[in-house]
Amino acid sequence: MKILIENILALLPDEAKVCSVAIEDGVIVSVGAAPADFKAEKVISGSGKMLIPGLINAHTHSYMTVFRNCADDLTFNDWLFGRILPLEDKLTEEDCYRGSLLGIMEMLSTGTTSFNDMYIHINAQARAAEESGIRAVLSRGLTGGKDDVEGGARRLRDAETEMRAWSGRENITFMLAPHAPYTCDEDYQREVAETARRLDVPIHTHISESQAEIETIREKYGCTPPELMDKTGLLTNRTVAAHCVYLTDSDIQLFARRGTSIATNPVSNLKLANGVAPVPKMMKAGVNVAMGTDGTASNNTLNMVRELGLLTILHKGITGDPEAVTAREGFKIATENGAKALGLENVGAIAPGMKADLAILSLDAPNVNPLGDPYSALAYSFSGMETETVLVGGKILMENREFKTIDRDRVLYEIQRIIERIGLK
Ligand SMILES: [Zn+2]
Repeated sequence: MKILIENILALLPDEAKVCSVAIEDGVIVSVGAAPADFKAEKVISGSGKMLIPGLINAHTHSYMTVFRNCADDLTFNDWLFGRILPLEDKLTEEDCYRGSLLGIMEMLSTGTTSFNDMYIHINAQARAAEESGIRAVLSRGLTGGKDDVEGGARRLRDAETEMRAWSGRENITFMLAPHAPYTCDEDYQREVAETARRLDVPIHTHISESQAEIETIREKYGCTPPELMDKTGLLTNRTVAAHCVYLTDSDIQLFARRGTSIATNPVSNLKLANGVAPVPKMMKAGVNVAMGTDGTASNNTLNMVRELGLLTILHKGITGDPEAVTAREGFKIATENGAKALGLENVGAIAPGMKADLAILSLDAPNVNPLGDPYSALAYSFSGMETETVLVGGKILMENREFKTIDRDRVLYEIQRIIERIGLK
């Protein structure tokens, strides 16, 4: 299908300018004046609107949406082991599918077009992603070790089977996800690393999220979590490490040397009272920094625009440097860097040859008037809810805030039934 987005203020990699964006077969074919012979089947007026590359949520747990606002103001251990894990046991695969759909609706409606998801039921995540048309990188969270050898092996086998079952999809790719160094022992980490090499898939993991984790790993192995995961073969140039709050300078150098991407999660880290990741230091060391929301049980939204606002403000306050993470750097972190971390080719920027993963935002709201610098506006003034229309691979998934591939009311109804059944209401 040929689509023309006409005369819209577009945030290009180097400048924001009013232009027309022509799309053919899911790919951007021109930015500027449309080619004279381009006969659009659909024209979208860009008047009073802003076009951004779809945002890339580099770390989340999509169907945690069902646990929104039900496990708050707790310590990390009370939150995870006391509240979330027992609740997860009550979810069926169908619940996870509905929860993923809700997460996808929230992401689309706040300008996100790709996400990196770690959870338990790949079948549920994949069904939701495929039906919705969003771009998804999926992984089954893996835990295992000498206390649970059989369970660990079964989870790894299941992950491989599920990945094979869903292979060959245009918008769905996979990673292997050793959950964290404190839930996967050294031998199990080696087993996962070996499987990832054999299957040629990247790694998605949590590293150095809390002070307790640092102490546990130091006591058990005498090193830092990144050092342990490097030793077991999990730190590669295709690894996405979420959180990375507590890093030594030598950990940062290690990430840079290995070419490992990190996904910072500022809201989740603050809300769980874990702290603040040394993002400016990582950027200076040349580490590819992407950003994610984490799950809604610790955020409590999947809104990347809100995340961008906090990211760009937080580090100024922590470092005393107003340029610690600028609006432009935040924009790159939420788009291009995310695509690089997730291994998504030709995604993350508005340019000819790139896939048409795009979000159109209204410039009508009082909070974005006057607009001023558009990159500053996106980081500091937009809420995300200005998103009107979203395309993934040139397919319109939301138009004028109406979902084209998801039955919104049905999903919201089913979610109510789930939370009633599992005792959250
Ligand atoms: Zn997480």
